[in-house]
Amino acid sequence: AAEQRGLRIVTANGEADLGTDAGRMFARIKAAVARQEVDRKSARQKRAAQQRAERGQSWGSRRPFGFMADQTTHHPVEAEIVRGMYDDFLNGVGQREIVRRLTARGVKTTMGNDWSQPVLRNFLLNPRNAGLRAYKGEVVSEAAWEPLVDEATWRATVDRLEGRGGPTYSRARKHLLVGVATCGVCGEGMRTNYTVAGARQYVCPKHHVARR
Ligand SMILES: [Zn+2]
Repeated sequence: AAEQRGLRIVTANGEADLGTDAGRMFARIKAAVARQEVDRKSARQKRAAQQRAERGQSWGSRRPFGFMADQTTHHPVEAEIVRGMYDDFLNGVGQREIVRRLTARGVKTTMGNDWSQPVLRNFLLNPRNAGLRAYKGEVVSEAAWEPLVDEATWRATVDRLEGRGGPTYSRARKHLLVGVATCGVCGEGMRTNYTVAGARQYVCPKHHVARR
C-alpha cells in the first residue's frame, strides 16, 4: 500500500525504512515471515478439526438438540422429540406442521429460540443425529456418540428433503446422467425430479422428454 501511494514509512526503531531499498527488503521479509506464521497456524487448526472429525469427536461449544452438555449423552426429553420429528416427517407430516407442533408444545432450540422450518430442515439433514460425524459436508467416521435415529431413517429423510430442491447436504453427484444426458429434441441438459408416484426421473427442463 505504501509503495502504491508513494508513502514513506519508517518504523520507530528505524529498522524498516520504506524509503530505502534495504528497508523495503527488510519489511518484505518481515511480512513474509508473518504471513507464513498465519498460514502455519491456520493449517494446524484445520488438521486438528479434521482429526477430531475422523475420531468421531464433536466440536463446537453449543449443545446439539437431543444431547446433553457433554454432546454425547442423550437428553432424556429431547432425544424422544427428535425421534418423533423423523417419524412424523417420514410419515408425511409437513415441515411446517412439525414446527407448529413443536411450538405448540413449547419446545425451543438449544439457543432458546422457537423452531422454524429452515432450522428444522438443517437439523433433520444433520448426520450427527444418525451417529455419523461429518467434516466439510462429507461423513468421515462413526461418531463417538450414540445415534438418535438409525442411519436408514436419516438417509430416507435426507433423500426426501433433497428431492424437494433447495440446498443439498452433500455436493457429491447423486444422479449419474445429470450433466451428461441431453434432451434429444432440444439438446438441453437433463435434470431430475419426481414422478407423481414418487419415483425419480430424468426430465428435459423444457418438458420434451422424461425417463424413469
Ligand atoms: Zn428438450
